[in-house]
Amino acid sequence: MEKKSVEEELAVLRLEVDKLKKSRNDIPPHRHCLNCGIAIPPEKTFCSKKCEDEWNAMLKRKRVTMYVWMVFIIILVFILYLSMGGA
Ligand SMILES: [Zn+2]
Repeated sequence: MEKKSVEEELAVLRLEVDKLKKSRNDIPPHRHCLNCGIAIPPEKTFCSKKCEDEWNAMLKRKRVTMYVWMVFIIILVFILYLSMGGA
């Protein structure tokens, strides 16, 4: 079994870090699909039509949920207002 000095091990580690840094810089510019998160070309927003449809359906559901909450809160405030003013 060969015995390495601390300096040697440090040098090896430094080389590994350099390699990692380099490989990270080698990754071409890209973005991630908004729906599933896989890497896609920077000019695209979704990896497929299916993901775009799923994303839009999710947004629509979110919007509907938000409107329901808004109506609920307005009614709640209205009831509170009436109960305070009427008593
Ligand atoms: Zn996708």
